[in-house]
Amino acid sequence: MSAEQDGTPAARLARRARQVVPGGVNSGQRSIPGLTDLVVTGTAGARFRTADGREFTDFHAAFGPPLLGHNDPDVARATEEAGRSLGHMGVGITEGEVHLAEQLAELIPSVEKLLLTSTGSEATFHALRVARAATGRRLIVKFQGCYHGWHDAVSLNVISAPEKVGGHDPISTGILPEVLAATLVLPFNDSEAVRSAFAEHGQDIAAVIVEPVPHNVGALLPHQEFLRTLREETTKAGSVLVFDEVITGFRHDLGGWQRISGVTPDLTTLGKAIANGAPVAALGGRADLMDLFSTTPGAPAFFAGTYNGHPSVVAAALATLRKLREEPVHEHVFRLGDRVRRELTALYDRLGVPAVVTGYGSVFVTYFMPGFTPDAPPRTYRDLLANDASLFVGYRRHLTEHGLFELPLNLKRSHISYAHTDADIDRLLEGTEAAVGAALA
Ligand code: PLP
Repeated sequence: MSAEQDGTPAARLARRARQVVPGGVNSGQRSIPGLTDLVVTGTAGARFRTADGREFTDFHAAFGPPLLGHNDPDVARATEEAGRSLGHMGVGITEGEVHLAEQLAELIPSVEKLLLTSTGSEATFHALRVARAATGRRLIVKFQGCYHGWHDAVSLNVISAPEKVGGHDPISTGILPEVLAATLVLPFNDSEAVRSAFAEHGQDIAAVIVEPVPHNVGALLPHQEFLRTLREETTKAGSVLVFDEVITGFRHDLGGWQRISGVTPDLTTLGKAIANGAPVAALGGRADLMDLFSTTPGAPAFFAGTYNGHPSVVAAALATLRKLREEPVHEHVFRLGDRVRRELTALYDRLGVPAVVTGYGSVFVTYFMPGFTPDAPPRTYRDLLANDASLFVGYRRHLTEHGLFELPLNLKRSHISYAHTDADIDRLLEGTEAAVGAALA
């Protein structure tokens, strides 16, 4: 029933929202077809509640930040204490900012120096700005299927229709054509495409930016040789290699995908899981590049932000980091992630539904298409064009009837947190079987 006809409190609030908030939500992809009256009133651990009195087990997890679960008590306490004792001055520095930068520099191979931002988009924006400042070059290389935030240079070719793959596919109007023209889009996992782009444009390429695991289209696992090619070609051409680890950082490893792969970029962007949901992100990397942001007047690259290093979010990041280091968080979420992938694979085999369940650690996604296996998963965006989008979205809509929430939008990944239990996974497996059956009926 639509909000216009229905008089429930949730529907009324959603209707008020649409009158004052464009589209009724504050970020793209929060408005879900079929779930227009979704008004969230509470979160706790692996659950959330809505204004119409429903409770869900949450496998969406806000696109990834709450690796410890919602409202983790240790993170909440640290944030509250900072809020009581240390307001944001916007001058000088606080001990927490130094401590956080020191720990990230110790943990993440590429990071010698680090700056804090409030969002991942700001971090990727500044990565590209400093790459251009350092090289004096124009071109940026990104990959089809990767998302790096909302700014113009990277607002293209994320989830593209088949006919748009291979060309420029902006996700917004209002971007200058010359800005789009300065971004080259290549297929992920295609080393040959990277080598030929460098052969043709190498001396104009300021930076290559990549999600080392493109999770914005679910999960495309990288060929190790592809990441090495990126490193070799950028080094040879004197371009800057940026790993956008906004999703992979902390979630897959405290040292990011760069520690897992052994391929060290020049710059790294972090966000999401580094503060379990508090709005903080970071750009770190080689000291000579980061020093171009020096705040002395006349420094080549300008960097600023009223809320950068806000004490409450820094406290959240420090508390998150402490817990990730002291408790078996990764062991827990990896074990549950392996279990989900294994048991969902068995489920689809048993049901005779052509599907491949893939992902890494705490991230999982099922694509509905034949021809792939967990050992030979899809590796490029073009592979994903065969996914049955209506089944992908359809079973997730039916999942909500079982109190389970995976985002009902095509190609979106799901997340497991430290707060999820084996019982939650049992429920997910039972609910998925019923939901897929209903979606196929
Ligand atoms: N980079 C990646 C890989 C992301 O997934 C996102 C957001 O989803 C961003 C950058 C942008 O981060 P934010 O939404 O905090 O601006």
